[in-house]
Amino acid sequence: MTDFKTLWARLQIENFYWKIGFYALCSAGLVHALFIPLFLLIGLPVMALVNVFSVFIYWYSIFGLGLQTIETRNDGLIGWLVFVELIGHNLLATYYLGKGAGFEYYIYVLAVLPFFIFTYRRSVYLFRIFLVISLALVIDISPLFEAPKVSVSQETLSLIHHLNLFVFLAVLSGLSYLYALYAKAHQDQLESHVYIDPLSGLYNRRFVYEMQKEIESRRNGWENPAFLLIDIDHFKALNDTYGHDCGDAAIAQVATLLRENLFNAIAVRWGGEEFLVLYKNSDPGSLRATADQIRQIIATHPGRCEHGNLPLTVTAGGTMMREGESFHAALKRADTALYQGKHAGRNRVVLL
Ligand code: GH3
Ligand code: MG
Ligand code: MG
Repeated sequence: MTDFKTLWARLQIENFYWKIGFYALCSAGLVHALFIPLFLLIGLPVMALVNVFSVFIYWYSIFGLGLQTIETRNDGLIGWLVFVELIGHNLLATYYLGKGAGFEYYIYVLAVLPFFIFTYRRSVYLFRIFLVISLALVIDISPLFEAPKVSVSQETLSLIHHLNLFVFLAVLSGLSYLYALYAKAHQDQLESHVYIDPLSGLYNRRFVYEMQKEIESRRNGWENPAFLLIDIDHFKALNDTYGHDCGDAAIAQVATLLRENLFNAIAVRWGGEEFLVLYKNSDPGSLRATADQIRQIIATHPGRCEHGNLPLTVTAGGTMMREGESFHAALKRADTALYQGKHAGRNRVVLL
């Protein structure tokens, strides 16, 4: 048996999705534990016993089945146990106390619950939804679930009904909220995969293309856009001399220096050993100053790899975007400036 500390440690490294499952199962177990004294109080020991069984199912789902790695955990089985427990428990409770007690609400939860498990085949979802809808209709129509089978006062019944309605709605909102959180976390993660270059940790070209319209229409603070293309000098020679891995380390080093030393700028890995820096609101004077500063910082901070220090210099070509000009036209001018810088001897800044 795994203790709580180990469980908690596992939860930290486990995926977000299982955390949803964990909280949901814990809450369900807790609610059932609370129902045990309630059923004893209203003289329904058989339902108290059913609840002991329910608590056991949730306990087993968390500690027995849940505490596995993502690869070995059988989410489908946990889903089936919860499904059977919810139907069995609430059918019985509705039978003994009648529809007025509101236990059938928990069966309705099963109309959304299967979709929290991704491993089922479509036929399983269909079967479960069909069963839930049928049960809900049977409970609504059949006289079997009409009146309580034990003598309970109307006040107690409506109190239980209020409680069940409250818990049912809380569970539905809670599930929806957690699912929304899960979807958002996934979306953020995907976006970072789509827009971030893994080697440098900088934005990639796709990110800039997404912003292109916004830049051209000068929205969102793009008042005086300026672009700086920065290219590592003699990178081919560095690759040939030290090897491709050292080349990668050089790219990572330049990326780190850009990230640490650029302010109010967006740094992008534009291509192999070429970087694009975008300023939202600049002017020729500060563009030259920051470009030259970054050139000097790179020249004085050699990268490191297994073969020792990697001397690095860069050439930068920069430009201010003109009124009514397209993004590509401005970028082309920055590229021409870079080309001129390379021809003039490298390790320099040219603005056009
Ligand atoms: P220049 O000073 O004129 O810029 O010369 P250069 O050698 O840096 O320029 P060139 O564009 O001829 O060479 C770029 C090289 O960068 C070619 C390619 O093999 C290498 N390269 C492109 N992407 C990567 C990468 O992700 N990792 C490594 N290690 N090398 C890359
Ligand atoms: Mg180069
Ligand atoms: Mg290049």
